[in-house]
Amino acid sequence: MIELRSVTKRYGDAAAPAVDDLSMDIGSGELCVIVGPSGCGKTTTLKMINRLIEPTSGEILIDGEDVLASNPVELRRRIGYVMQQGGLFPHLRVADNVATVPRLLGWPKEKIAARVEELLELVGLPAATYLRRYPYELSGGERQRVGVARALGGDPPVLLMDEPFGAVDPIARKRLQAEFYELQRRLEKTVVFVTHDIEEALFLGKRIAIMQRGAVLEQYDTPQAILAKPATPFVTQFVGVDRDLQRLAVTDLSREDLDAAPVISAAASTSDAAELLIRLGVARLVVLDAAQQPVGVLGQAELSRLAANAGEAAIALGATLPLGSSLKAALAALLQSEEDLLAITDGSRYVGLLTMEGLHGAMRRSAGSPPAAD
Ligand code: ADP
Ligand code: MG
Repeated sequence: MIELRSVTKRYGDAAAPAVDDLSMDIGSGELCVIVGPSGCGKTTTLKMINRLIEPTSGEILIDGEDVLASNPVELRRRIGYVMQQGGLFPHLRVADNVATVPRLLGWPKEKIAARVEELLELVGLPAATYLRRYPYELSGGERQRVGVARALGGDPPVLLMDEPFGAVDPIARKRLQAEFYELQRRLEKTVVFVTHDIEEALFLGKRIAIMQRGAVLEQYDTPQAILAKPATPFVTQFVGVDRDLQRLAVTDLSREDLDAAPVISAAASTSDAAELLIRLGVARLVVLDAAQQPVGVLGQAELSRLAANAGEAAIALGATLPLGSSLKAALAALLQSEEDLLAITDGSRYVGLLTMEGLHGAMRRSAGSPPAAD
């Protein structure tokens, strides 16, 4: 855990401090994103955590240990750092760039070589192809991946990242964000990630610190909470007019949003299906195959068709989606579905149907207001 206690940084005799009395905690294994406009003090805050910059006053603790009392070289081995443009040494090959920290740690040659290959594979760069390349032979996205691999060299528990994807084109950036999200889910490092891009912050952050000039914390909360209830006018303006749309991307579909439509086996006869519809007084049944996978839905209209069994009579549903998908993904799938219905699974088995009404309920829930009574 990283704790900042009333941290202030004043450069020279500047009138206003770059960081003004900042206090915040970052939990172990948490991905915290610091977001704010250019010049608000993000880089200064980050560099004080690994002592590249010394605070004018205040305290910074990592796992209870005072950063200012630790040896700066030791400290930086325990804290990986990724800069914009990757910050690679231009005259060193990829292999030597990634080997930087293991070499500092004095590992034997074979162990370093194995670690370098492992790290490159981890960030999606096949070692055979990339080991001998120089940074100028790489795309912006590849340079960033190498930068991440290098930062992970000594397997540090803490990772600091300063606008790491800021210099790559928007498409490569989206891909890098998605890759990093997956990587972090596996590695569970304590990450402090700085960006000026609110969309990037909402996508990656478990908690987001929104700052304005002087590193003044306007709000520090989950993406869901920030979008549902911006704490100040600054936050409202910063998260922008797409707030409702963005909220769809950060809210997960859950069981309570689903219709529990009754199910019938695909092998059942159409007369059994008809009887069940009437007995239960429902408009439709969900038809499941032997593996409990949804094959489609079935109502009275479908049963008037000639069919050997319920499976054949059913109308197929386009996509199925797992619980935990974002509401944005659910909306996109619903809009493409002919029947305005989606079958939802728990990853393997059918758990319910999502209708447009269900999605509306989920959206109201994400806005922090109770679902309207029908
Ligand atoms: P951000 O990363 O959010 O863009 P910075 O932390 O780099 O912001 O800078 C915060 C403020 O401190 C800015 O006003 C910047 O001009 C100033 N600043 C940053 N580095 C220095 C420096 N080395 N000397 C003097 N002022 C600086
Ligand atoms: Mg900066």
